Amino acid sequence: MLQGMPRAAKIVSKEKLNDQVYQYVLDISVGAEPGQFINLWIPGMDEKPFSVAYDDGEKLTLAIAAVGPFSNHLAENVNIGDKVGIRGAYGTKNRIPENCNVATVAGGYGAAPLFFFAEACVKNGCKVDFIVGARNEGLLLYLEKAAAVDGIEVHIATDDGSKGHKGYCTQILEKIVEEKDVKFIATCGPEMMMNAVANIAEPRGIDADISVERYMKCGMGVCGNCSVDGTGEPSCVKGPVMSLEHVRKLTGFAKYHRDSVGNKIHW
Ligand SMILES: Cc1cc2nc3c(=O)[nH]c(=O)nc-3n(C[C@H](O)[C@H](O)[C@H](O)COP(=O)(O)OP(=O)(O)OC[C@H]3O[C@@H](n4cnc5c(N)ncnc54)[C@H](O)[C@@H]3O)c2cc1C
Repeated sequence: MLQGMPRAAKIVSKEKLNDQVYQYVLDISVGAEPGQFINLWIPGMDEKPFSVAYDDGEKLTLAIAAVGPFSNHLAENVNIGDKVGIRGAYGTKNRIPENCNVATVAGGYGAAPLFFFAEACVKNGCKVDFIVGARNEGLLLYLEKAAAVDGIEVHIATDDGSKGHKGYCTQILEKIVEEKDVKFIATCGPEMMMNAVANIAEPRGIDADISVERYMKCGMGVCGNCSVDGTGEPSCVKGPVMSLEHVRKLTGFAKYHRDSVGNKIHW
């Protein structure tokens, strides 16, 4: 597959999933596996990386939060029948464990790519505790979709208690790892949340995959914009998914990220 050139894809479905996130289904497969991302190009606007929420070999699903100029433009002006450019699939894949207990911890749009992962785990004989956290009920995502899969148990946490546990999703994780023999954790969401997940997994010897998202441009390790301090690696190629052990080598993890021109922004 020619991965450096955008391919035209048509939007065949667009659905508002919650207060912030739209789901777009495109008539293209990029052969993506859980954890990977694509670059979505809107001619005349910009190009941005998005996690693959699903790729069934025929269609590509993305879940995109409307938070800024590009994603708001998509939400407001890009509709069913419109064409966009897609490059990828890029980046590393989640490791898919076999026949064991797995937990996922998602914040924000992270629930979408983690559903792709969780379903692959179930197909591999695993049971998955699917933990989703948000500030409030209106920002939760993919709950019914995940609950519909035999082998996935959904757990919810909201900061304001409007649905599920009032508090952090990591408090649910802590309880689950005390009760069950969890062998693997995957997390995708705000970096401070993922750091809390790492701090729960590490002392218990539980291996984990962490999605490290940096300001990505080329997606192919050429421009260097998403390089991470500590290892110097471009996270678009060596990530976004990294093992817990590898993430501990990143000196900026849970401390800062960089903007489009490399300025440090502390979390
Ligand atoms: C590997 C990866 C996977 C992602 N997956 C998703 C996803 O599934 N759904 C989703 O809604 N968003 C995802 N994002 C974030 C997405 O790329 C954009 O950042 C987001 O849509 C905001 O862009 P904006 O122009 O609308 O807003 P802006 O106001 O420009 O940006 C809002 C925030 O996003 C950051 N950002 C902007 N452009 C980029 C970029 N090129 N790379 C990384 N961060 C950027 C900014 O630093 C800022 O913190 C992902 C980012 C990465 C790196």
